[in-house]
Amino acid sequence: MGRTIGFIGLGIMGKPMSLNLMKAGHALTVFDLNADVVNSLTAAGAKAALSAKEVAEQSEIIITMLPASKHVKDAVLGENGILAGAKEGAVIIDMSSITPETSRELAAEAAKKGVGMLDAPVSGGEPKAIDGTLAIMVGGKEDVFESVKPVLYDMGKDVTLVGDHGCGVTAKLANQIIVNLNIAAMSEALVLAAKAGIDVEKMYQAIRSGLAGSAVLDAKVPMILDRNFVAGGSIAINMKDITNVMNTAHEIGVPLPLSSQLLEIFHALKVDGKIQDDHGSIVRYYEKLANV
Ligand code: NAD
Repeated sequence: MGRTIGFIGLGIMGKPMSLNLMKAGHALTVFDLNADVVNSLTAAGAKAALSAKEVAEQSEIIITMLPASKHVKDAVLGENGILAGAKEGAVIIDMSSITPETSRELAAEAAKKGVGMLDAPVSGGEPKAIDGTLAIMVGGKEDVFESVKPVLYDMGKDVTLVGDHGCGVTAKLANQIIVNLNIAAMSEALVLAAKAGIDVEKMYQAIRSGLAGSAVLDAKVPMILDRNFVAGGSIAINMKDITNVMNTAHEIGVPLPLSSQLLEIFHALKVDGKIQDDHGSIVRYYEKLANV
């Protein structure tokens, strides 16, 4: 059955996710600071709102897909934010990748107004957002999760309640360690092969069905072979995530020696003017080191 859904943040990920919700028969009200992207959604059948508050006034479920913690905080708690307009019983689903601390704080504020909240970040990037096959990792209360689960399946293939508030975004932090260290390991291997004079494309074909094969390898090697570094998942976004990873880990006493190296690689790529490029650009850091 179609629900009334609000969608705030219609960027690389939010736009295809909201289009999939409309395809599934839901009535959407949308808001973004970028008027062009709002226009493309209204052309596809969505209603435009002028603020997050107005979105919330018209929706039983309000989804946010925003860059970082501060944007989500503004959208939820601001004067013209979601909690200023949400009806009692509404559910906010924050699908952005933010800190567990922020997720827990916002869920507590929402609860004071009788509004449910889930943290439900995603993995799979733009291609899976377009296909509606994202991996969605959820934190929050089970009854709230069950009440919106079909809507999450309209955007994702695997939807998993990991635990209470903050557990979804914590799982996403762990996911980002695995994804980015995979890209770094793959980059070391590709640069070794290239400098040793091996045809890198043939090497990729030779190894991809073995133990080194992975979703990361299949997503990023073809991009690297095409020299396509258009984000996708930008260095900026992944740097934000790995910074959140380090802060969270240090607070609870977990040293992460390899992830700290990633941050240095990201800083080097930033200095090199590649901050908005795809995180597959990690290979260009290694190419420079080895003069490939
Ligand atoms: P994006 O920068 O493409 O889109 C963000 C959108 O939010 C923009 O359209 C921007 O105008 C809008 N916005 C910013 N502040 C706003 C505000 N206060 N009110 C309304 N709109 C506002 O980002 P993205 O790549 O779609 O990523 C969104 C989230 O998803 C991030 O937390 C990111 O870490 C996460 N994520 C991204 C990817 C990826 O591959 N790009 C994959 C998984 C998860």
